[in-house]
Amino acid sequence: MPDYYELLGVPRHAGPEEIKSAYRQLALKYHPDRNPGNKEAEEKFKQISEAYQVLSDPERRHLYDLYGEAALHGMDLGGFGAFDDLFRGFGDLFEDFFSFGRSRRRGPSPQPGADLRHRITLTLEEVLRGVDKEVVITRRATCQECGGSGIRAGSQRTTCGRCQGRGQVASQRGMLRVFTTCPVCRGEGTVVSQPCAACRGSGTVREEKRMQVRIPPGVDAGTRLRLRGEGEAGRFGGPPGDLYIEIRVAPHPLFTLQGKNLVYRATLSFVAAALGTQITVPTLEGEATLTIPPGTQNGAVFSLPGQGLPEVRNHHRGDLLVEVHLQTPTQLSPRQAELLREFLRLQEESPPRDKPARNRQGA
Ligand SMILES: [Zn+2]
Ligand SMILES: [Zn+2]
Repeated sequence: MPDYYELLGVPRHAGPEEIKSAYRQLALKYHPDRNPGNKEAEEKFKQISEAYQVLSDPERRHLYDLYGEAALHGMDLGGFGAFDDLFRGFGDLFEDFFSFGRSRRRGPSPQPGADLRHRITLTLEEVLRGVDKEVVITRRATCQECGGSGIRAGSQRTTCGRCQGRGQVASQRGMLRVFTTCPVCRGEGTVVSQPCAACRGSGTVREEKRMQVRIPPGVDAGTRLRLRGEGEAGRFGGPPGDLYIEIRVAPHPLFTLQGKNLVYRATLSFVAAALGTQITVPTLEGEATLTIPPGTQNGAVFSLPGQGLPEVRNHHRGDLLVEVHLQTPTQLSPRQAELLREFLRLQEESPPRDKPARNRQGA
């Protein structure tokens, strides 16, 4: 195999652009599509392609310069057997072949804006009815002064002097040459010599944005509402991020949540529970009357249908569950105590017959 530099017809100190342009001309000349059935052209095309693959890669080129072709044996140079593979690796180069005259877009590549998160805490009443909330977020927006380019009006981006537009710089680490992203242009290859005063060259500025967010009835805690495009602005033509509104539900002084049901704890004297009574219970919208039947046990749960929270989709509402907790009186008057002792005596004289536990014991 002849010398790679000779193959491409470039001097040993040739820069990347010179190598690329030499390869481009030769590749066009020897391309198999232009020389159908010509074995010589095919072989030549393989050779210049291999030379270009090595010389266009700073690390491989350096190894080749030091040790010649032998240094590269065993390295994966891509599939030289098939032209298909070869072309796959050269996609954008060949694209360039067919866009002569079109100036290459220089400067940084588009970066999408970041997503933002914002938390909203709702009361149960707000969950019930839905609510419009004002949300204030601080985000990076496209600089109006420079349209996001970061460049002062009338000036333009210039090739980075540190890396000559390559975006990478080389440093020597013993035997190795290490390539790292250029610290001056951060790999972009160009720099802004006269930055926009408003955004100091970043292309974006901080802004405080107020917006009304419509929260539909029935959202669950943990729901995330997505506001497309309301996140941070993209840079250099990249799309903006999204704003995610995360829903929290504040604890309620009276109710706890069980899915779409509300749970209310009602306390009741054990006497009222034994005799049966009517109680007034709070609801999210006011009050309701609940009938407690005679003989109600501690922990009994009564349901008021349709007094819970709505489903977002069909507005079907859950129930209000009333959990009864019986209280034993602690401060009895002498008369109350006398009546309860009387009650106890009567119960001992004629114990209730229908107690299932007693029946089982007798059997
Ligand atoms: Zn640079
Ligand atoms: Zn600006």
